[in-house]
Amino acid sequence: MSEKKVFCEKCRDDVGYIVSEKQLEGNIKGEKYSYMGKEAHCAQCGSEIYVDEINDYNLKALYDSYRIRNDIVPLEVILKIPEKYAIGKRPLSLLLGWGEQTFSRYCDGDMPTKQYSDILKRIYAEPDFYAELLEKNKGNLKTEAAYEKSKRAVNALMKTEISSNKKIDLAIEYLLNQCEDITPLALQKALYYIQGFYYAFYNTFIFSEECEAWVHGPVYRDIYFRYRDYKFDPIKGKDEFDSTVFSSSEKAILDSVIKNICCYSGKVLERFTHSEQPWLTTRGELSEGASSVRTIQKEQIGNYFSAVKEKYNMITPNDIKEYTQTMFEQI
Ligand SMILES: [Zn+2]
Repeated sequence: MSEKKVFCEKCRDDVGYIVSEKQLEGNIKGEKYSYMGKEAHCAQCGSEIYVDEINDYNLKALYDSYRIRNDIVPLEVILKIPEKYAIGKRPLSLLLGWGEQTFSRYCDGDMPTKQYSDILKRIYAEPDFYAELLEKNKGNLKTEAAYEKSKRAVNALMKTEISSNKKIDLAIEYLLNQCEDITPLALQKALYYIQGFYYAFYNTFIFSEECEAWVHGPVYRDIYFRYRDYKFDPIKGKDEFDSTVFSSSEKAILDSVIKNICCYSGKVLERFTHSEQPWLTTRGELSEGASSVRTIQKEQIGNYFSAVKEKYNMITPNDIKEYTQTMFEQI
């Protein structure tokens, strides 16, 4: 029962009340919306009574259900934007070229149009989109200080987004962006060769992750689970990728693997790795179809690919071609 007391028409007295959840319905712009709301009943006589807070709660729940059905940005997201980019409500409104009070009204619960809602969603989700907007429309802001402060906030956000991406994730994004049809099977092989040849050329590993000797070749387990729904279909990548996140030596290996290894199908590459020492030795006595989670030791990968580099007199990463062509002829 509530601590607070409200007036019950029936009891003609201030009473405590009991709150329960109830499926309710309401109308917005001539359309019916159902939502999970609340009802308050007098603790003494049981009749329904009016409580301000409950009414507010139900109104918000009704509008939330409207937002969901019409794909309108949730109020919680709207409220987080000023804090995320260290900008006031009015300056943000001006930056967007809206009326000075428009964004503030949305914060108070007014419903944005679909068009404005889409802009707000994108601003919240994409710091680089906001950064562009800030640059383009900084003239709308009343003070230079407001611009500087927000600029610092968005720069910090963009930096953490990049550094939180692991090297292996960046490599995957780049591969998917550059190769038109790369299946999960081929992707695993590409990552394995990047790891191996990067070591061969630069004497250090590009990925900290370990791979395992599965039935169909070396597998980076997390990556397998990330893309397994694609089965034998190509994985869809992003249309744009900024390759300046890589050093020139990283990019040289990636580009060579894309050119000289990703041109083969996943199945062909599987036969490559099945004839190479690291996978064979790790599998050891296991039969062909036996599942295994044995780690292919990095040392083995490093030694094997260093020996390959030596044997084929590779000078630059592009010389990987000699090796893959020989492998293709042999299998
Ligand atoms: Zn009552």
